[in-house]
Amino acid sequence: MTGSDPQNRAIARALGPVGPEVSCETCFELLDRYVELEVEGADADAALPGLRAHLEGCPACHEEHASLLALVSSETG
Ligand SMILES: [Zn+2]
Repeated sequence: MTGSDPQNRAIARALGPVGPEVSCETCFELLDRYVELEVEGADADAALPGLRAHLEGCPACHEEHASLLALVSSETG
């Protein structure tokens, strides 16, 4: 291994925003959609794999998710 290869990172980004390892940046980008799906009763975890695992392991995003879910839930009624 030669360490981080910028080309590999570019390929990883091209594959899509959601992978087995979701970064906080990706998490924040997708959180709106994730919460919408949850509120609609859709399978948010299947639609955005990896996000839930990140939310469970990241206190900052977990809190963001909780407040966003409360907000969207109250708007939806
Ligand atoms: Zn996070």
